[in-house]
Amino acid sequence: MSANPKGIVRLPQVEQLLQEPVLASYIRQLSRPLVTDVIREALSAIRRSEAFRASNLPPEEQKAEIHRTIYRNIQTRCQALIQQRHNKVINATGTVVHTNLGRSPIDPAIWEAVSDVNTGQCNLEIKLSDGKRGQRKGLVDRLLGRLTGAEDAMVVNNNASSIYLMLNELAKGKEVIVSRGEQIQIGGGFRIPDILALSGAKLVEVGTTNITTADDYIEAVTENTAMVLMVHCSNFAIRGFTQSPDIRDVARRLPDHVVLAVDQGSGLTTERFAAEETPVASYLKSGADIVCFSGDKILGGPQAGIVCGKRQLVKKLEKNPLMRAFRPSRIVYSLLEELLVRKLNKEPEGQGIAEQSAAHPEAIRSRAECLASALGDCVRLVGAEMVVGGGTLPDEFFPSWALEIVTDKPAEKVLADLRGMPLPIIGIIRNNTVQLNMAAILPHDMNRLELQLKDYFTREPES
Ligand SMILES: *Cc1c(COP(=O)(O)O)cnc(C)c1O
Repeated sequence: MSANPKGIVRLPQVEQLLQEPVLASYIRQLSRPLVTDVIREALSAIRRSEAFRASNLPPEEQKAEIHRTIYRNIQTRCQALIQQRHNKVINATGTVVHTNLGRSPIDPAIWEAVSDVNTGQCNLEIKLSDGKRGQRKGLVDRLLGRLTGAEDAMVVNNNASSIYLMLNELAKGKEVIVSRGEQIQIGGGFRIPDILALSGAKLVEVGTTNITTADDYIEAVTENTAMVLMVHCSNFAIRGFTQSPDIRDVARRLPDHVVLAVDQGSGLTTERFAAEETPVASYLKSGADIVCFSGDKILGGPQAGIVCGKRQLVKKLEKNPLMRAFRPSRIVYSLLEELLVRKLNKEPEGQGIAEQSAAHPEAIRSRAECLASALGDCVRLVGAEMVVGGGTLPDEFFPSWALEIVTDKPAEKVLADLRGMPLPIIGIIRNNTVQLNMAAILPHDMNRLELQLKDYFTREPES
């Protein structure tokens, strides 16, 4: 118990506050111990506050005032914590595989289909045929083989692990030849030269930023060379006078002891919408020995790194001790399996969001029109563009439509208001106006988006 210096008003006790019905929903969302911490912080902030120390109000009024302050303080702190939890949001940015927004959404049908495998026990490492110990990858390798034409395939936790594993297993203590145009940083702190050094391989740079030829690669090969690594340039495109070698030419001329490895990145496989991007199967057909890519970019699955190619190389990687650290959980395997089956069966649920949006602009348009007509004068329907994002197709823009929000409020304020909604909406600012780009809006989110926006536009203007 504590009191202000005059000893008039006592602050409520922590236990007493925890019983308050208004805090029950915070306890449900944050846990009792976290809410207890928050209450303690709020009480100590009040104790320290000048207003509390210096208050001259009569005791009753002072008590009421203090209680209001405490609740406000607790609520603000709890809401800030709830916002830090992993919340569903609506991606209205026009970047469909958005790194900051979780990349690929898993299709609800796929999520539903693997619920049983994950909420119960499963045959992760047992063969149901004879009861003996089995492999954890299930059918994923065969499905990937059908999709990409690869002899064999394996899965790790993300594509950064794929690259690390390939380098560590196939090139440790040896030389790896990489083009100067591909010494890139992919996302936060992931640089090809650094990861190469970490893996124990030695980087041999060839070519220049804009030009690397097959001769550059071939002339750099020594008996100590283990690998030529080609890295897809995510995030950026070099325009103008550029040249990269024909991979077939490099593959044909490389001696047998050198592995030709490609980090394809995006996971474009059978999708036909991205003319500029080379699908995994093409690299393999052109002579790459091994190709790696992410599971949650264009492929549209869970976060994963996929390595596919020659069986003998994949088998080697699988035996690397690091696999114990890099192996995915059954959640990843089961989701990937379900996705791949549906992809091979050409079901819409097997398409990633990138393909769905890029290949069906008319669907984006009809969502935009539908929402625009429901919201009337508060929005304006405008043409826009979408990008795939997540470090893929840096130079390709696809048609999209957006709703511009018509308001006197400053754009930054509108953006923040929308982020603060019960189902946060992440928009973007274009020409000082907030736009909600419809490219990545999921059909099953349309209703809630509309309801929330209606609610926003009919709110009292804030004072
Ligand atoms: C995205 C990307 C990576 C990193 O993949 P993660 O799955 O995020 O680890 C590596 N290389 C390329 C070319 C990429 O596009």
